[in-house]
Amino acid sequence: MHLKRLEVTGFKSFAAPLDIDFNEGITSIVGPNGSGKSNVADGIRWVLGEQSAKQLRGAKMEDVIFAGSDSRKRVNIAEVSLILDNEDEYMMSDFSEISLTRRLYRTGESEYFLNRKPCRRKDIVDLLVDSGLGKDAYSMIGQGEVDQILSSKPEDRRTIFEDAAGVLKYKSRKYESEKKLQE
Ligand code: ATP
Ligand code: MG
Repeated sequence: MHLKRLEVTGFKSFAAPLDIDFNEGITSIVGPNGSGKSNVADGIRWVLGEQSAKQLRGAKMEDVIFAGSDSRKRVNIAEVSLILDNEDEYMMSDFSEISLTRRLYRTGESEYFLNRKPCRRKDIVDLLVDSGLGKDAYSMIGQGEVDQILSSKPEDRRTIFEDAAGVLKYKSRKYESEKKLQE
């Protein structure tokens, strides 16, 4: 499984539609300060389900929508799609290519798509958790997070190992069924 392409429109500094292709192996993104390198990582984080505006370096979720520049007026929709190559069936899906899409309107309304078909946020989150790619998984390691891992408390570090070992998804299922039983 590998990241094939990221498609962004109206997300942060990317006003016009932009496709970023990734090859297998290592891809580096280089550019001057403020050119949008971290915004690419934010886009990946966002489509993987990030709900915290702070994690996306904003004050509120609306801040991910292109706010306008000297030469371009602001837009009202941010959309990011992540296209994954699943030839090796690493993701728990029969599709050999999987696309995940998240869309946010300035009105606050959100939409999610799995392989371009409307779905619930939960459908995407479940697929990612099952595959060990959830937003809290260490598929994304941000600046400063390495230090955080090294200096974390043993019980917190255990969560990281459990996540890597694929235990976390069972824990979250257990939690969900316990919650249902209580209802
Ligand atoms: P550095 O090398 O300093 O880390 P970078 O390439 O990572 O820079 P980013 O942080 O990705 O740069 O991009 C910052 C730019 O994105 C800023 O110019 C900021 O104004 C712009 N930006 C962020 N959010 C929005 C938004 N909602 N609308 C328009 N522009 C935005
Ligand atoms: Mg940066």
